[in-house]
Amino acid sequence: MATIPPRTFEPTAAEDGRNGHIRELSAPPPSAVKVLERKVKAREAKNINEARVVVSVGRGIEKKEDLAIARELADVLGGEIGCTRPISEEMHWLPEELCIGLSGVQIKPDLYVGLGISGQIQHVTGIRNARVICAINKDENAPVFGVADFGIVGDLYSVVPKLVQELKKI
Ligand SMILES: Cc1cc2nc3c(=O)[nH]c(=O)nc-3n(C[C@H](O)[C@H](O)[C@H](O)COP(=O)(O)OP(=O)(O)OC[C@H]3O[C@@H](n4cnc5c(N)ncnc54)[C@H](O)[C@@H]3O)c2cc1C
Repeated sequence: MATIPPRTFEPTAAEDGRNGHIRELSAPPPSAVKVLERKVKAREAKNINEARVVVSVGRGIEKKEDLAIARELADVLGGEIGCTRPISEEMHWLPEELCIGLSGVQIKPDLYVGLGISGQIQHVTGIRNARVICAINKDENAPVFGVADFGIVGDLYSVVPKLVQELKKI
């Protein structure tokens, strides 16, 4: 069997004549494993796989309260918040469902904006399919600029509020 992450492929055009074929298979033989109980794991955050815009935060954010800066940008762009692993796993500032990358989710938004993210391969793996990648980082040599379509070298604490201010005028 095969599984495909959400939004990996565009839907096929209806007019190409292919409708697919659903085949019912018989149930697998009984297993020695006995299911005692099923519990649905409660989600702490929205599913960012579906988001058209994702504003992702990294260690460049100095304290938890400053996530508000990223939230404001996400709101003005009509998007959702995501993060790097240190933000969810080490700082515990955001739920693990929002971690993007190798050990997190793979996303395919129209626009990804990385704030204070270095662009390590484990994170970039999760954003490769974004249509447009923007990065804001104060280090001009940050690897994220190697994968970004648009980059701003600067301090996110001064760049993001200005960006929000301009976007609000549109
Ligand atoms: C097995 C394994 C799996 C992993 N899986 C994942 C994963 O799924 N997802 C993931 O994200 N990581 C994962 N990681 C961790 C990954 O290797 C990186 O450590 C992590 O992505 C780095 O996060 P970061 O960019 O937030 O932090 P850093 O690498 O510390 O980068 C912070 C960046 O912020 C910039 N900065 C600092 N202050 C400012 C400011 N004021 N304005 C602008 N820029 C600023 C700095 O210049 C720097 O580039 C994994 C690691 C391992 C070993």
